Amino acid sequence: MMIIGRKSTVQGRHTEFTGDGRFRFLCHSKLECFNRCCRDINIFLSPYDVLRMSKKLGLSTSVFLERYTTRLQARGTGFPVVLIKMRDDAGLACPFVTGQGCSIYEERPWSCRMAPVEIRGENRYGFAFDSDHCRGLLEEKEWTVEEWMKNQGNEGYAELESGFEEIPAGLKLTGLPSLDQHIMEMFFITCYDLDKFRRYVFDGSFIKIFDISSETVEKIKNDDLELLKFGFRWLASGFDLRKSITVRDEVFDN
Ligand code: SF4
Ligand code: SF4
Repeated sequence: MMIIGRKSTVQGRHTEFTGDGRFRFLCHSKLECFNRCCRDINIFLSPYDVLRMSKKLGLSTSVFLERYTTRLQARGTGFPVVLIKMRDDAGLACPFVTGQGCSIYEERPWSCRMAPVEIRGENRYGFAFDSDHCRGLLEEKEWTVEEWMKNQGNEGYAELESGFEEIPAGLKLTGLPSLDQHIMEMFFITCYDLDKFRRYVFDGSFIKIFDISSETVEKIKNDDLELLKFGFRWLASGFDLRKSITVRDEVFDN
C-alpha cells in the first residue's frame, strides 16, 4: 500500500495519491478555518444532490433550483449544470452555512462530502485546498479514499451517477437552436427538476405515447429514485423529440 503524507509532510494542492494511499485530515469546529471553505466556491450539484437537498428543506425541486442555484452550460457536452448560488449579500457565503456549520449537513452535496479530497482522474486523487487554508490537513487522523467516502456517507451515489453519465452518449445536441433548446430543457427538467418531470410524465399522455409498461409506471409513481433512474434511462435512449415536444406542449404550454 502506498503511504503518503508522513506526519512531517505538509499536504496541499500539490499532493497526489491513489485510492489505496493514506492521507491525513480531520475537520472540526475548533479549527480556526471552521466554515472557511463554505464561501466563494463552486459547488456543482448532481441530480441526486438536488433531490436530497430540496427534500431536506421541504421545497419542491423547482423552488429549490430557483432559490438556491445557478444554471450554467457544460463546456464539453453543452448540457446544463447546476451550482449552489453563493450569497452576494454575505461575502459569497453558501446559503446553508451557519455559525454552527452546515445547516443541511445530513443532506449536504457530494462534493462537500468529498472535500478536501478531489478526484483528478482514474484512481488519482488530490486536495482542493492547501493546509494554510484548510487546517484539517495538518491533523493526524489517517484515511484511505474508500474509508473517507464511507465515513462521509457517499455510498448511495454510485449507481445514480453511472446512470447519469450514460446520458451524453445517447443524447446529442443537433446544432439546430430551437431543437437544442428543447433537448437542454428536457435534460434539465428530467435530471434536476424531478417534481416538474413527475408532472410531465403523469399529467399528459407521456405514458401512452412512450408505451411505458404498467409495471414501470407503478415503480416510478411513488419512488423518487426510481423516477430519477427512469428519467436517466429515457434520456440515454435518445428520447423521441417529436413525441416529447407533444407532451411538453400538453403539460406546460397551456
Ligand atoms: S452545502 Fe453545507 S457543507 Fe456545502 S458549502 Fe454549503 S454550508 Fe458548506
Ligand atoms: S477549511 Fe478544511 S478543516 Fe476547515 S472547515 Fe473547511 S474542510 Fe474543515
